[in-house]
Amino acid sequence: MSKNKFETDAIRTQMERSEFLEHSTPLHLTSSFIFEDAEDMRASFAEEKQRNIYSRFTNPNTSEFVDKMCKLEGAESGYAFATGMAAVFSTFAALLNAGDHIVSARSIFGSTNSLFNKFLPKWNIETSYFKIDEVDQIESLIQPNSKILYLESPTNPAVDILDLELLGQIAKKHNLIYIIDNCFATPYLQNPIKFGADLVIHSATKLIDGQGRVLGGATVGRADLIREIYLFSRNTGPALSPFNAWILSKSLETLGVRVDRHCENALKVAEFLESHENVALVKYPFLKSHPQYELAKKQMKQGGNVVAFEVKGGIEAGRQFLNHLKMLSLSANLGDTRSIATHPASTTHSKLSESERLETGISDGLVRVSVGLEHVDDIIADLKQALEYV
Ligand SMILES: *Cc1c(COP(=O)(O)O)cnc(C)c1O
Repeated sequence: MSKNKFETDAIRTQMERSEFLEHSTPLHLTSSFIFEDAEDMRASFAEEKQRNIYSRFTNPNTSEFVDKMCKLEGAESGYAFATGMAAVFSTFAALLNAGDHIVSARSIFGSTNSLFNKFLPKWNIETSYFKIDEVDQIESLIQPNSKILYLESPTNPAVDILDLELLGQIAKKHNLIYIIDNCFATPYLQNPIKFGADLVIHSATKLIDGQGRVLGGATVGRADLIREIYLFSRNTGPALSPFNAWILSKSLETLGVRVDRHCENALKVAEFLESHENVALVKYPFLKSHPQYELAKKQMKQGGNVVAFEVKGGIEAGRQFLNHLKMLSLSANLGDTRSIATHPASTTHSKLSESERLETGISDGLVRVSVGLEHVDDIIADLKQALEYV
């Protein structure tokens, strides 16, 4: 474990300097690496020495990104992926066998939900879900073939909070591999390994890149599990590109200061929305009115950058609101410098029935805002003028 504070590790975790003594990490765009002789080649493939062979396995830039992510999450080991979903899929594919069972919460990222419902069943891997306000039901879902407990907190898009420590104890008691998608919190706000997580997954596309440029992902945690994930991945090819790794490692240098400002802006936006007459409900983990406010305070450093709120007037009001935004982008991403608004009921979650949507915390008028780094006065001004139309 590193003795440095977060910001220091985020900046000073760097690959060894080359003969040029560069200050900032150079980019190693190479698909493969050369061997000195036949013996060097043999020993490298036999893993008798740790070195780069081929960038599908490892590359100096991806290794730097992984080393940094491990330090920031307090993890033993890790592997970097081309996208967050590549991390999610490869983690399951590496660790599960046909016939295994997953326990998860109703509120999970859309593509992860599709993976559970449409694709993993091809290998006879089924998933059972509990509603996030019925954590006491979870033990009744666990079966003899259950192998993984998979969760997100805060959840997307309704920013509910799950008790990571309590759920970790349940996972341990039933010998489940405990995996947290920590994308919404980032390692700066929350470290699930402290609460018992065996593995932590990130979409680096979101706040880690933070500027809406590149896709990336990572899984970090227990070395024995990462070894399985690495062996699967080096053969199947979901690797992060060195260029994107170089970007993401540099992005991590500023994660702390960026996320501080994201959270400061998000709290002000949430307070503004809570005071507005056309808003029925605001969900933000660090608002006192959030049902899990105390829990959020316990396990997160700040509330994150996503604010969910409900405009009065249902689905049509939600659409009107979005149509009248002038500055905020309508976009599928989150965690960008640019503030983004989405209306889950008519977009990402439109294929669910109304009752299924309500189970995942998505009412018809729910709007999700990823609060960016523009001046907060301008963000609030745009929200305010659009709220006149609902
Ligand atoms: C975006 C996201 C993912 C998927 O990441 P990609 O980089 O888009 O593949 C997974 N989980 C959560 C919570 C996300 O927000």
